[in-house]
Order: sequence, then structure tokens, then C-alpha cells
Amino acid sequence: MKKQNTEKKTESEACSDKNCPFHGTLKIRGRTFTGIVGSTKMRKTANIEMERTGYIRKYQRYEKKMTRIKAHNPDCISARQGEKVTAMECRPISKTKKFVIIKKQV
Ligand SMILES: [Zn+2]
Repeated sequence: MKKQNTEKKTESEACSDKNCPFHGTLKIRGRTFTGIVGSTKMRKTANIEMERTGYIRKYQRYEKKMTRIKAHNPDCISARQGEKVTAMECRPISKTKKFVIIKKQV
């Protein structure tokens, strides 16, 4: 088990997360996404929701589709539910987590 860090950290301070793209060793490359944080119930992970439209040829209309990706949520960013964030592709951190949040959008 990892020791609980009781020290409070602000956004400008360096975090001890090795999967942080700014203070750790994680390299980011590839695609970027912008979406709304849906759920942050998992430890250091956020669900990011993006709405996209898919065309249905039979009815010649568009339907709304939701894409959800899991992204790593480092201590120095710690995005909360409902916030707009930008996530970037990185190496797979876990089985389903292949993105990391790089900034919050105000
Ligand atoms: Zn950090």
C-alpha cells in the first residue's frame, strides 16, 4: 500500500505522481481531446465525456453520440466533475486508461 500524502498541494507545486506529464516521467504524444469530466470516482482517474454527431443515411439526419474516455487525473490538476478539460494521448497507464489530463479550461 502506498503511504497517504497528507501534505496539501496547490496547482503550482510539483506533485509526486510519476504518471504526471509535467512532474513525472510520462511522455505525451498523439491525439488531444476536449471534453467534460463525468465521473472522478476512481482513484486518480477521470471519465471524460465528449459529444459527437453521427450521420444516419436512411433518415438523412444526425444523431448525438457520447464518447467516454478514461484519463489519468494527476494531483496537480485534480479535475472535478463538470469541468472542461483537455486530455492528451499517452502510453497505456492501465487496461483502459490511455489518456492523461493536461489542462483545465476555464
Ligand atoms: Zn504534476
